[in-house]
Amino acid sequence: MLYLDHAATGPVRPEVRAAMLPFLGERYGNPSSHHSVGEDAAAALDDARRRVAAVVGMRPGDVVFTSGATEANNLALKGVALAALLGSGRPGHIVTSAIEHESVLASAEFLERIHGVTVTRLPVDADGLVSPESLAASLREDTVLVSLGYANNEIGTVQDAAALSAVTAATRIPLHLDAVQAAGWLPLAGTGADGLSIAGHKVGAPQGIGALALRGRIPLEPLLHGGGQERDRRSGTENVAGAVGLAVALELAEAERRGAAERVTAVRDAFTARVLALIPEARATGHPVHRLPGTASFTFAGVSGEAVLLELERRGVVSSSGSACAAGSDEPSHVLVALGIAPEVAQTSVRFSFGHQARIEPTPLADAVAASVAAVRSR
Ligand code: PLP
Repeated sequence: MLYLDHAATGPVRPEVRAAMLPFLGERYGNPSSHHSVGEDAAAALDDARRRVAAVVGMRPGDVVFTSGATEANNLALKGVALAALLGSGRPGHIVTSAIEHESVLASAEFLERIHGVTVTRLPVDADGLVSPESLAASLREDTVLVSLGYANNEIGTVQDAAALSAVTAATRIPLHLDAVQAAGWLPLAGTGADGLSIAGHKVGAPQGIGALALRGRIPLEPLLHGGGQERDRRSGTENVAGAVGLAVALELAEAERRGAAERVTAVRDAFTARVLALIPEARATGHPVHRLPGTASFTFAGVSGEAVLLELERRGVVSSSGSACAAGSDEPSHVLVALGIAPEVAQTSVRFSFGHQARIEPTPLADAVAASVAAVRSR
């Protein structure tokens, strides 16, 4: 079986599993306990925090371990907006884009509905790029946060983080980047962002661990109240094994990043070119250049994407219709619709997402896609 759905999740790397195992066994302490067993866990957690901070270019104290990126994004948007609301007594304004992950869009919608926060959802161009000019024009005196995806999970488009952060840097407004898909492919340090969300399971750590790294000067209201862990920003006994795994996975991904990007881009481009050559109705989605190395996404107008996925799986290739969260839903992808793609065409989308380790022959893979599309079309 050829697994080409790494944007949804991937396997835990053996090095990560090995680093985590002691914390699922003999090093089982609670980092808040004041005895040697607890202190051992606290030391491991501190070490993991320091290592994650180094990869993302922040201070250890900026890193809040979470259950994943959904929680990290919820904490970034709600935590910053609620802190600003409590500080000023005014609901404030948030800027995001039309193509964000559901965890960002739904958090923004919640703030709008329950707390009266005003939300601007910036449009994107046909390749999925947010323009720095439109960002600049959207900022207001009461804007409390800009939250944008560094790289999109459905189409792989990579935003110009330097240009976008130059806009916010000229103001006091923090920029948060959802860096879930960027991790392992793009540099996380030096983006100019004030906050980053990451998820362990996209980089070889397990599901259920992630982090929000947010510069300490930015007030953050916690969403989980309790024992005051994570410097009172996220209560609950920490997932020590997960944090250790996340640190190791991020370091490995960072070390391999350049080589993997070069290798996988070459495979992805050869595959994409052959798919477009073999299938007349195929269109590639996402930016032709500024795109994650591992992402190849297409629409096949007139052919059901879900049916193509089933045909592909019969041929031993596992991929997805775009977003694991939206898989199985009849709604067209909000990302593809925001690019200007007609809803009925958006429903024909198929996304292939490669991992670092991918050793893939582009020709037979593209042939399998063409055969699958032909099989569905001939029904
Ligand atoms: N943000 C992006 C861009 C994602 O792709 C995902 C997961 O697919 C998330 C956030 C949410 O991550 P998790 O499901 O680990 O909470």
